[in-house]
Amino acid sequence: MILETRAAPPFMKNGFVLGCEETREGVVIDPGDDVELLLAAVKKHGLSICYILLTHAHLDHFPGVGRAKEVLGAPVVLHRDDNFLYEAVVQQGLAFGFDVARQPPVDLFYDGPGPWAFGRLSAWVHHTPGHCPGGVCLAVGRDDCSEKTLFVGDTLFAGSIGRTDLPGGSLPTLLRSIREVLFSFPDETVVYSGHGEATTIGREKRTNPFLNS
Ligand SMILES: [Zn+2]
Ligand SMILES: [Zn+2]
Repeated sequence: MILETRAAPPFMKNGFVLGCEETREGVVIDPGDDVELLLAAVKKHGLSICYILLTHAHLDHFPGVGRAKEVLGAPVVLHRDDNFLYEAVVQQGLAFGFDVARQPPVDLFYDGPGPWAFGRLSAWVHHTPGHCPGGVCLAVGRDDCSEKTLFVGDTLFAGSIGRTDLPGGSLPTLLRSIREVLFSFPDETVVYSGHGEATTIGREKRTNPFLNS
C-alpha cells in the first residue's frame, strides 16, 4: 500500500494519501491545512483518487476538502452523525479564533461498514463515537488479507486519548469505542492517529495511561 502522511501548521493534524500499487487508485483522508502537500503526494504517485474520506468533522480535519475536491473531483464521505459539525465549520473556527471557510457539502455518508474500495484495497468503516458523535475508524487493507491498518482520527493517540469536552463528546462512550472497537484488532495492528506519531494496538493496550487505570 502506498501511504503518505502530511501535517501543516497551525493544527499539525495528520492527513493521509493511500494508494493501491497495482491499479494506482487511492483515497485522501482528512485534507486540512496540509491539502497542498497531500495533492503533491497524489501527483508524485500518479494516483487517481476515488474518495475523500473524513474520520470526523472537527475544523482541523477538513478545511482542505473544497480544494481537494476541486483538484481531484472525488466525492466527500463523512459519518452522518458529524454532519452538524461539518455544516458549522465557520462557527467552529470562531470558537477557536480561526477564520475558516465553508466547505462544499458532503456527497456520501458512511451507512454501515462499507467497504469503500480503491483498487485492490478497501476501507472498512467502524463507528467510534465519543470524541464526537460521528467519529469513525477506517480499517484499510487488501480484500484478500485479514491484516488491516487503522486510521482512527482523534479517538486514540500514541499515549493518549481524544478530548471529550467538545459538542457531542462523551468520555464513557469514547472509552467504550476504544475498548470494544479498536482493541478488537490484533496487537500488531498499526494505528495512524489524527495528531502525532503512529502506534500499535498492542502498545496502547500495554502502555496508554488513560486505558490502564
Ligand atoms: Zn477532533
Ligand atoms: Zn484533530
